[in-house]
Amino acid sequence: MSATIIDGKKIAAEVLAGLSEELGALRERGAVPGLATVLVGDDPASATYVRNKHRKARELGLFSVEHVLPAATPSGALLELIDQLNADPRIDGILVQLPLPAHLDPLPVVTRIDPLKDVDGQHPVNAQMLAAGQPRLVPCTPAGCLHLLDAVGVALEGARAVVIGRSGLVGRPLAQLLLARHCTVTQCHSRTRDLAEEVGRGDVVAAAIGKPGLVRGSWLKPGAVVIDVGTSRGEDGKLVGDVEFAAAVERAAAITPVPGGVGPMTIAMLMANTVRAARLRRQP
Ligand code: NAP
Repeated sequence: MSATIIDGKKIAAEVLAGLSEELGALRERGAVPGLATVLVGDDPASATYVRNKHRKARELGLFSVEHVLPAATPSGALLELIDQLNADPRIDGILVQLPLPAHLDPLPVVTRIDPLKDVDGQHPVNAQMLAAGQPRLVPCTPAGCLHLLDAVGVALEGARAVVIGRSGLVGRPLAQLLLARHCTVTQCHSRTRDLAEEVGRGDVVAAAIGKPGLVRGSWLKPGAVVIDVGTSRGEDGKLVGDVEFAAAVERAAAITPVPGGVGPMTIAMLMANTVRAARLRRQP
């Protein structure tokens, strides 16, 4: 068997084309959705992610503003900037790029964002709505993973889904999204006793760990669908996922590549959330 490679770039382009039409209709009513990103520090990977987000926002015709703050920014200055963005009528979505430098606790920062402008779904109110089965603004990466599964027609209801990772940004919300779609979900993490055994039961396996090739292809149930969220730099400097791709391709029914799988979807979902936030704020 050789797995279908799930083309995240193509599926993301389709999402963006749909958004472009929606934006045209909004523009006729004089509304241009606005996205503000906040990057603290000079982590090169984070800087690249933010740059790509802005490029896409501008291509799509959104209003987009980038704030880059020095690594030593005190929390007060960061909170003040968020207050300004909350009050700015041109801004519909605020994304604080995570992780923050170690001296900044992310919770008070994301909690300061107006929940209706929280386009990465990190505010506790949005996280709670997702946990309660009433998603409003959902974190972009897990939303993108779900979109990929739908785009390739995976039957989720009743399927066994194994999510590896439990971060607030990816693993935890992804498990909740899959549960809402009636999967039987197993959430694995660094203390899971036998990861291979858990993975072997999954009809759907999603890895969000950040450890290159940790998930061996031989662990997979034949015919599983694999979503690889992981992005690490290999020894040659190239991006690699959490799943041992060459072996997994031989066993899985479908798999996302790294790069070109989840990454483009994260950006597309950020654009979609910004448009959604623009609509939410303009609702009477
Ligand atoms: P994170 O906050 O570091 O979380 C990693 C998770 O992996 C934790 O829950 C951790 O468990 C678990 N883990 C670590 N070692 C493990 C092991 N040996 N076995 C099982 N689980 C283990 O990372 P994140 O923010 O969720 O990101 C995960 C990966 O996705 C990273 O590579 C990141 O770069 C990538 N990412 C990609 C995109 C994209 O758009 N493509 C977006 C976001 C993130 P504990 O909770 O027990 O520590």
